[in-house]
Formats: sequence, structure tokens, C-alpha cells
Amino acid sequence: MPEGDVVWRTARQLDAALSGRALTRSDFRVPRFATTDLSGRAVGEAISRGKHLLTRVEGGLTVHTHLRMDGSWRIRRAGGYPPRDHRVRLVLANEQWQAVGYLLGIIEVLPTASEDRVVGHLGPDLLGPDWDTAEAVRRLGAAPDRPAGEALLDQRNLAGIGNLYKAEVLFLRGISPWRPAGQIHDLAGLVELARQLMDANKERPVQVTTGNPAPGAQTFVYGRAGRPCRRCGTPVRADGYSARANAAQERITFWCPACQAA
Ligand SMILES: [Zn+2]
Repeated sequence: MPEGDVVWRTARQLDAALSGRALTRSDFRVPRFATTDLSGRAVGEAISRGKHLLTRVEGGLTVHTHLRMDGSWRIRRAGGYPPRDHRVRLVLANEQWQAVGYLLGIIEVLPTASEDRVVGHLGPDLLGPDWDTAEAVRRLGAAPDRPAGEALLDQRNLAGIGNLYKAEVLFLRGISPWRPAGQIHDLAGLVELARQLMDANKERPVQVTTGNPAPGAQTFVYGRAGRPCRRCGTPVRADGYSARANAAQERITFWCPACQAA
């Protein structure tokens, strides 16, 4: 599940491969844009906004993509045909590089001037230049009865957190995922911790919240259902999390029932 740090790094890789060079090929393998051809246009920049990717091309167009559950972008040297893989949804290539998008959850081309239509609803971006702790806290506090775990995942409150960082910051702060957001005394500290963890991980290929990058040691509770809590030894719990989240966001939440008592 790609979260904001992974998307941030993906944007950097796309930007390094594509920016300042003219596209020699664009291959949209989705029906709606099957005839779209961006070849000949230079790429201005590729940026992330929360978990969204915006690749801006000459002529006032933006390619908006989102990794959703399983998506990824991989950069390959140009030369040779792009992979004949049914998972490939989009290829953007120049004379040096091919950027190949696999299983992308969103692909659309829109006017750069209309980007707000797809990212304007987002709260402050944890890894963005506009990060604003006070605004994120204000948005979280606007629905005080909402469970903390659900509120942290809502990208309209703050953009970039996914299931891993949600579980880990709530554990580190000793907060039950079901505690109402309005009953958390230090929301600013909570979101600032999330920002610090994501910032520390954004340049590396593994997500580590424990300080230990060894396999199996990287997280406190995420992905550790039934294993002993690293602090108290109580088995980590995992529950389906579908209450008011929409179906696409249905996820499992991990927590220690002793360290994060309701
Ligand atoms: Zn514990």
C-alpha cells in the first residue's frame, strides 16, 4: 500500500527521468485516453500532492496518476519496446528513459489550470512545501466524534497518511484507533510525529518506524497481528476497519489493546 513517502519518492524519480526533456512516446493503455498522444511535448515537472502524482507537460496539460493499492512507476533505460505486460497502464518515454506505470488506480489527463479539481479537496500535504500543522489539527478537530484511525486516513484532513503510518503513530502515542479525535489532547504532536516518520523514510526503499531496518523489525504493530507487542508483550490485534470508511478504503487496523487502551 503506497503511502505519501513512497509517492513522494516516485515523483522525484519521475521528475529526474522526464523533466526538461521532450516525450518521444506516450502510451495510455486505458480506454478513455487510448488516443491521447503527448509525444513532442516537454515535461515541465513531476510532483506529488499527498498520494497523487501530477506530471505537468508542455501546453498546459497534467497527467494525473494515483497508485491506489498496488500501483507503481518504474523507470527503465530507453531503447527496446516497453514491457508487453498486461499490468502496464501508461508509458511515458523520452530519448533517455521510459517511465512505466503498472496497475495505476487513476490515470487522467486534464488542464494544469484545473488540477484543483483532483487535488483541491486535500488537506495539508505532510511532505509538501505547504505543510501546515495548525490547519491539519483544525480539520481533524472539526469532526470531534470521529475515530482517530479513520480521521487520520481521510485525505481531506491531511494528505499522505496510509494504513501503516496511521497504525504506527497511534501506537507510539498510546492512542486507541477508536478514540474520538476530539478526545486526543495533543493532535499537533500526533500529526507532527507522522510527518517526521514519513520525512525520515521518504528517501529509502523500506518504511521503518522502529529505527531498525532489519526484516521483521521495521514496525511496532503494522503487519504484526498475533505477534507480541514490542513494549508489553500483549498480542497485537488486527481488526477489519469498515465502519464508515468507504469500500475502497476498507482496511485492517493494527493495535496493541494494552498500550492503546480505549
Ligand atoms: Zn503493548
